[in-house]
Amino acid sequence: MKQFQYTRAQTQQSALEAIAKPGTKIIAGGTNLIDLMKRGVTAPDKLVDITHLPLKNISTTKTGIHIGALALNSAVSENSLVLEKQPLLSMALKAGASPQLRNMATVGGNMMQRTRCTYFYDTTMPCNKRAPGSGCGAMEGINRMHAIFGASDKCIAVNPSDMSVGLAALDAVAIIAGKKGERRIPFTEFHRLPGEHPELDNHLAAGEMITGIEIPDNNFAKNSYYLKVRDRQSYAFALVSVAAALDISNGTIKNARLAMGGVAHKPWRLFDAEKSLIGKPATEESFKQAAQIAMQGAKGYQYNSFKLKLAPATITEALKHAAGLV
Ligand code: SF4
Repeated sequence: MKQFQYTRAQTQQSALEAIAKPGTKIIAGGTNLIDLMKRGVTAPDKLVDITHLPLKNISTTKTGIHIGALALNSAVSENSLVLEKQPLLSMALKAGASPQLRNMATVGGNMMQRTRCTYFYDTTMPCNKRAPGSGCGAMEGINRMHAIFGASDKCIAVNPSDMSVGLAALDAVAIIAGKKGERRIPFTEFHRLPGEHPELDNHLAAGEMITGIEIPDNNFAKNSYYLKVRDRQSYAFALVSVAAALDISNGTIKNARLAMGGVAHKPWRLFDAEKSLIGKPATEESFKQAAQIAMQGAKGYQYNSFKLKLAPATITEALKHAAGLV
């Protein structure tokens, strides 16, 4: 591993000043960054430890819940406000990683985690995300875990976060601090599709840091579910996951939110499928129709075409759970 400098930020301002310098990265839980450094995928000159900044709070606002960027995944998933108002987020968090990792990983770090494409981590292989212009090892390689939506001819990787799928479904907003002050990015627009620049995972600009997220209040707490299909029941990334949230009144769907994980370079929100559910009865038939709509534009590769069947089945099943049909 390349030698690097380490410093601990005492204030948000000093953290922002430190990361303004090229080659500097923020570290918090370190559950992904340290792996990337050990394998030589990334080699920062300097790490700025922000774990002592006061960004761990989980509180109510006038319009929802605010969660600080340094709140631990485990703390958020067990928080009483989250369990009461946004149980979908708790379910998504508990589906991710392992208890030990959730005890270290932060909300901000979870948003910043990088793809688990094996070619990205293997520095002997071509990878446009790690080394732009070198090619994509997965395109003609073992692409079983890879995208079926929104990929480009440069990269077919998927975002690995479960938490982000839940937050995309819940219309969360990312709160970002930078030299020019604070800005807010809707969660569905925080992560990017690969396009011509797969080396970029999100829309965070150089010198900016995540300080928190906000989730607006909603009527989904009673009827929401996170379903993750994976190769083993714990400590595995999603083949396909679905965050489903319904507002049901007298058996009719008044409002719906749906997002998928394991299928795209970003949490994949299913806007058309959501619209198709409004006004429909909360039945398996309605859910199957929505799942078919959700799959429009999907494209499989050599080893991941099974996702074209698995994804609509997972959407239907998640909606059935959310509606209390199973
Ligand atoms: Fe790299 Fe993306 Fe191709 Fe994986 S899919 S090898 S991350 S360019």
